[in-house]
Amino acid sequence: MRRPHWALYVLGLLWSSPLTALGLVLALIYLPKSVRWSDGCLEVVCVWIIGNPGAQTWGIVICCASKEDRDDPILRVHERVHVVQAFYGGIPVYALGWLAMWAWNMIAMEEADSPRYPDHLPLMYKGKPRPRWWRAYVLIYWERVAYKADHEYDLGTRPWAWGAAA
Ligand SMILES: [Zn+2]
Repeated sequence: MRRPHWALYVLGLLWSSPLTALGLVLALIYLPKSVRWSDGCLEVVCVWIIGNPGAQTWGIVICCASKEDRDDPILRVHERVHVVQAFYGGIPVYALGWLAMWAWNMIAMEEADSPRYPDHLPLMYKGKPRPRWWRAYVLIYWERVAYKADHEYDLGTRPWAWGAAA
């Protein structure tokens, strides 16, 4: 995703503001260690994050597990894809859609020997066993888009991605 035009940024900020508000509350619950404004987002390094990810995005609030995760360009690109998704989808499409797809994957996800998304299979396991809840998360549509973008950034085919420059 490209950095949004300022007008889209303002509209998206308004539309996703309930998620940002939730993110501010969560960032407090996650015990903030440091806060900074960077490239259109509020980056909060936290003591803990539910699910134990490198980062977790709520509106324009990006909760990070460490300063290294916060500054990791691949994570920065990945999380800003979620910021744009929330700008478009807000709570109804993006947040509830994320949850619904995760729940659907938990129930209906095909097992590893018959993957629907072969490109994401290496990611689903990363060489080690992953619990079903984690594999269900990787196959959420919004996550597949974000992982594709961060992978392309990593390969150098998407150097203009939002978040690339800290
Ligand atoms: Zn993600």
